[in-house]
Amino acid sequence: MKIFCDEKICVRCLACAGESEFGGVIFDGNRIVIDRTRPEDWQTIAAICPTGAIKILSDDEESD
Ligand code: SF4
Repeated sequence: MKIFCDEKICVRCLACAGESEFGGVIFDGNRIVIDRTRPEDWQTIAAICPTGAIKILSDDEESD
């Protein structure tokens, strides 16, 4: 599973970082940084993003 933030459509609202309970999503002052090894509820975090910038891909899907 791959989780990433599409910086082109992220509006830095920080909703995802606020939803993150275990440090899996942090804002480094410039961009959202995701640590997918943290035990977050990734589906919820992806769903809360107002622009759909958080993407979850299974291993057999390619990101562009
Ligand atoms: S919730 Fe979405 S738009 Fe807001 S900071 Fe996170 S990735 Fe960016």
